[in-house]
Amino acid sequence: MIKELDLIIVGGGPIGIACGLEAQKKGLHYLILEKGPIVNSLFNYPVNMQFFSSSEKLEIDEIPFISKEAKPKRNEALEYYRRIVTSNKLNIHLFEKVSSIQKEQAIFEVKTERQEFTAKNVIIATGFYDLPNKLNIPGEDLAKVSHYYKDPHFYASQKLAVIGASNSAVDAALECWRKGAEVTMIIRGPEIGQRVKYWVRPDILNRISEGSIKAYYNTTVSEIKHKELILSTPDGTQKLENDFVLALTGYKPNFHFLEALGIHLSDDSKRLPTYDEDTMETNIEGLFLAGVICGGMETHKWFIENSRVHAKMIINHIVKKRSVPA
Ligand SMILES: Cc1cc2nc3c(=O)[nH]c(=O)nc-3n(C[C@H](O)[C@H](O)[C@H](O)COP(=O)(O)OP(=O)(O)OC[C@H]3O[C@@H](n4cnc5c(N)ncnc54)[C@H](O)[C@@H]3O)c2cc1C
Repeated sequence: MIKELDLIIVGGGPIGIACGLEAQKKGLHYLILEKGPIVNSLFNYPVNMQFFSSSEKLEIDEIPFISKEAKPKRNEALEYYRRIVTSNKLNIHLFEKVSSIQKEQAIFEVKTERQEFTAKNVIIATGFYDLPNKLNIPGEDLAKVSHYYKDPHFYASQKLAVIGASNSAVDAALECWRKGAEVTMIIRGPEIGQRVKYWVRPDILNRISEGSIKAYYNTTVSEIKHKELILSTPDGTQKLENDFVLALTGYKPNFHFLEALGIHLSDDSKRLPTYDEDTMETNIEGLFLAGVICGGMETHKWFIENSRVHAKMIINHIVKKRSVPA
């Protein structure tokens, strides 16, 4: 059945929810379509994860976010965003993935796995957590390899290799070592990432220098086997005994989805999408980007703290456009 709306928001992460809340306040006929549970990406973050932002910086529409410590934990964030959705009775369909969007004249046809909608405007707020940056090496598809870290208990008494040197890799290495894993970090560059949280970086550097966690610098993994890894190190090829691999080498937006919509991406390695920085409208009229999807491969540039403003920018523009007769 075709239902025409003022606005469809694709993605029910923190920023999609912020857009829905703002649309509701302004009386727009809107719908959020989310392929998983409420704030699916946050749900899939490590169970003990603590945000680097303090809670007020993660607030939507100045609705107070109270957390036990200054920087909230994943569970507190799930509670906060869930309550925003349920208390405000936001119009959201969960576990309903958007498979395609097409513009016919001035109207968008949005297809999900279950049904079809039409809308005058669409916001893409799909984040980047679904697609890991693959290593593209033999053995990457083995069951012992994961691109997502969840719980340190799983790795206790196991030989764990953590590939990467950013916040996610460092948090995983430290947590798993503290729960009894034998941790080795494989680091492509010469050092632990400079963007690692300033209160965590000394911890990992000290654990490496005292030998509790082993680190190979300027090293890549060339093959993953059932019981060992083949490393390319500055001293030549080496074998490393191994039970599990956490390949925490970052994630990327779904560029195919954006390109299929007709959104222009830069030709360089950054793959930056085209949008107006005042309205967030893309090169296609009525199609907007919100949240971390805006950063292309520069996934560190946008986060909840600095992208929550997108909601008001977009909705104000849609409302203004609506009040101007064509
Ligand atoms: C470990 C970690 C720690 C972080 N700490 C902080 C922090 O302290 N402070 C901060 O500001 N930021 C932090 N971030 C970043 C922050 O979590 C993200 O910026 C935030 O989730 C972005 O929100 P978003 O709504 O743009 O995207 P997301 O939260 O990724 O939401 C996108 C949603 O779109 C859905 N989706 C995707 N494709 C489809 C489709 N085809 N159909 C329907 N739904 C779809 C997904 O299921 C998902 O729920 C952290 C990130 C990580 C990984």
